[in-house]
Amino acid sequence: STAPVKVTVTGAAGQIGYALLFRIASGQLLGPDTPVRLSLLEITPALKAAEGTAMELDDCAFPLLAGIDISDDANTAFDGTSVALLVGARPRGPGMERGDLLSANGGIFKPQGEALNKGAADDIRVLVVGNPANTNALIAQSHAPDIPAERFTAMTRLDHNRAVTQIAQKLGVGVSDVHKLTIWGNHSATQYPDLFHAEVGGRSAAEQVEQEWLENTFIPTVAKRGAAIIDARGASSAASAANAAIDHVHTWVHGTPEGDWTSAAIVSDGSYGVPEGLISSFPVTSDGTSWKIVQGLEIDDFSRAKIDASVAELSEEREAVRSLGLI
Ligand code: NDP
Repeated sequence: STAPVKVTVTGAAGQIGYALLFRIASGQLLGPDTPVRLSLLEITPALKAAEGTAMELDDCAFPLLAGIDISDDANTAFDGTSVALLVGARPRGPGMERGDLLSANGGIFKPQGEALNKGAADDIRVLVVGNPANTNALIAQSHAPDIPAERFTAMTRLDHNRAVTQIAQKLGVGVSDVHKLTIWGNHSATQYPDLFHAEVGGRSAAEQVEQEWLENTFIPTVAKRGAAIIDARGASSAASAANAAIDHVHTWVHGTPEGDWTSAAIVSDGSYGVPEGLISSFPVTSDGTSWKIVQGLEIDDFSRAKIDASVAELSEEREAVRSLGLI
């Protein structure tokens, strides 16, 4: 049997952590043949709650779960880890300025980047879920100079999955009939869900809907879905965010299907005019080891303007964390 793979989850006692850990332990992240050793990182006041979650994990008697460690020390939690899911982050409080938010998150993601750099396994893959996810990933990445930058990613798979369902429901097809959908840019309200390259039934999805619906219903519904969930549920999305994190890593490790792609925020190599080094969402494929940006897509003026607007926001966030000395 194979040796257990260490998977670290930060913010493990939070809502997303609660929806995530049981699925990792049951084998849905790395597959049914890979035992996992879970490492839960939490802030000190949340350690007791994390212990409660660990008790429940024990009580599931998952055959693939080789052990659980709990810590409030990043160096311990990331030592030898192969998969790091960075969920814990500082949420924007009432009246909080962007600079305060970025500073607070710099205080979390800088030491985590350093700890990953020091102790993570050679095959480390990092997914940042905690918001502002793209820029938090950039902060961690910039403090891990010995880890290839491409191993740091941020999650736009939830936005991707939301967009897939919206177009499938509109066209009365199943979600499996939707291919080549892309989320571009930042995981924020400026993100651009692209139907022009998406295919349903072998034809462009955009050609099967009215431009009016695409612009005024589809894009805002996807971009504002998080707020709509909070409004309906009285709490932010957690199970669907956890599901998307599982999807992201599962696709990274197992690869994208031939002829299709998914969306992930990865370090830009300058493709599609996205400044090098920004962690921005692209159409991506995985061969089971690394992500590759799908090349050669034609970008029309409508898409160009949407992509540029979201990428401009990422550039501003990078400037802001630079001037705060966080990268
Ligand atoms: P959640 O588990 O609900 O959310 C965690 C993070 O995920 C937030 O930053 C949240 O952003 C983000 N997120 C990204 N996408 C989504 C989405 N689609 N829907 C909802 N959230 C999304 O937060 P909790 O407050 O329940 O738990 C956070 C935990 O993290 C706490 O237990 C806290 O103690 C811990 N923490 C741990 C740290 C560490 O390990 N060092 C550091 C900081 C906190 P948004 O707020 O924008 O919704």
